[in-house]
Amino acid sequence: MNTPRKLKKIHDLLLKHFGPQNWWPGDTNFEICVGAILTQNTNWQNVEKAIGNLKAQKLLTPKALYNLPEKELARLIKPSGYFNIKAKRLRHFLEFLVVSHKGSLKKVFFGEMDQVRDKLLDVNGIGPETADSMLLYAAGLRIFVIDAYTKRIFHRLGYCEKEVSYHDLQHFFMEHLPSNTELYNEYHALLVMLGKYHCKPKPFCEECPLKKICGFPGS
Ligand code: SF4
Repeated sequence: MNTPRKLKKIHDLLLKHFGPQNWWPGDTNFEICVGAILTQNTNWQNVEKAIGNLKAQKLLTPKALYNLPEKELARLIKPSGYFNIKAKRLRHFLEFLVVSHKGSLKKVFFGEMDQVRDKLLDVNGIGPETADSMLLYAAGLRIFVIDAYTKRIFHRLGYCEKEVSYHDLQHFFMEHLPSNTELYNEYHALLVMLGKYHCKPKPFCEECPLKKICGFPGS
């Protein structure tokens, strides 16, 4: 079986096991962008609490959040962990959005994807995974998101080195998968489920939907 068919098979097995994920969890594109920053180095349950705090205060608009003092922002997002750092990162993003783009995500996402991506990467605190999550899930652009789960799973499946670079693994997916936003959206969400529930640092292979095609010792 060639690589595109193998990747499709992995996707189909995951989809059959976990069902459609309907990502990204968020009511607006702005909420998705805020969530993409808050989810750095933490799990989604903690992000949900932080987002819930912002929602309860009706602060989930670019202007309202921009007008909030950084200290207060840090207090409200405390459940997401690293809250002082994340408050600073959110401030950088809000300045980029509100001051440089009049608070409009449409203006942020306007233009060639590579140029928009470069602009996002220039914002202090936004790395490739955060930028690509915004591009895929908030802007609906065709870009594959890589995270620590994806690296771990595809290393164990035998497709890459443990220390594969973000760019190389992203290129691998985008070279071998059909160029399709919905597919990229679902595939990443399903890999997160697999990484969360089966392919953990100490893998739980017994119930893993990829068990039959995985050669990792213990699978
Ligand atoms: S079989 Fe085990 S090592 Fe392989 S992907 Fe599943 S959980 Fe990970």
